Amino acid sequence: MDLSLNTATVRKQWNLAQIIDGCARHGIRGISPWRDQVAAMGLREAAKAIRAHGFTVTGLCRGGFFTAKDWRDDNRRAIEEAHELRAACLVLVVGGLPAGSKDLCGARKQVRDGIAVILPEARKAGVPLAIEPLHPMQAAERACINTLEQALDICDELGDGIGVACDVYHVWWDPKLEQQVRRAGKKRLLAYHICDWLVPTRDLLNDRGMMGDGVIDLPTIRRWVEATGYAGFQEVEIFSEHDWWKRDPDEVLEVCKERAG
Ligand code: ZN
Repeated sequence: MDLSLNTATVRKQWNLAQIIDGCARHGIRGISPWRDQVAAMGLREAAKAIRAHGFTVTGLCRGGFFTAKDWRDDNRRAIEEAHELRAACLVLVVGGLPAGSKDLCGARKQVRDGIAVILPEARKAGVPLAIEPLHPMQAAERACINTLEQALDICDELGDGIGVACDVYHVWWDPKLEQQVRRAGKKRLLAYHICDWLVPTRDLLNDRGMMGDGVIDLPTIRRWVEATGYAGFQEVEIFSEHDWWKRDPDEVLEVCKERAG
């Protein structure tokens, strides 16, 4: 599988222009930028630089947060940006509970309804939407869609132009993972994110491990993904306050290539 770099992996050391140059230097042909980094560089400028290198934009991070106040406009802008960058998908981190609420069922319904509202615009722009289920520890604050099964139920309900981003960090524990990857199939599997789960995990958000340093059976999950006919990239996405964000970014990219296999 070809390698893509989720730009969060070296965001503390490099800005987007430096990351683009770094990927080119290291022969990494895919990139998945975050919108704040794109905004800092300028959308046009970023799109131009990425295109000049012939990179595949494996995703734009992120749209979603359907339980927040400004979700409508924010997602409209995200779709436009993904279109401009020719991103393979717009990754949706769907949002958690509204402030002060305990109504998880209501939040999930709000998410489903929000996606239904933006999906026609995404289709028109030629931007597939990728729901990224997040680990249940994030249900309150970031995403109340926590399994591939939940995400795929929404996809099946809403039809074409929508699928899932399968991030091993969020779904490795799921007893139904193999079954749901198969269910997603080539059609719904829009992105595949890799890293590792460290034991112990010291921070719920920013302590992801480099592939091989934790307990996720990456070769097995990769086999399941490849069995669907998935022809996309594997995207390294590591948030690491204690380790990889402190290292020389050139070293980080070298290790990413080595460990991705
Ligand atoms: Zn991810």
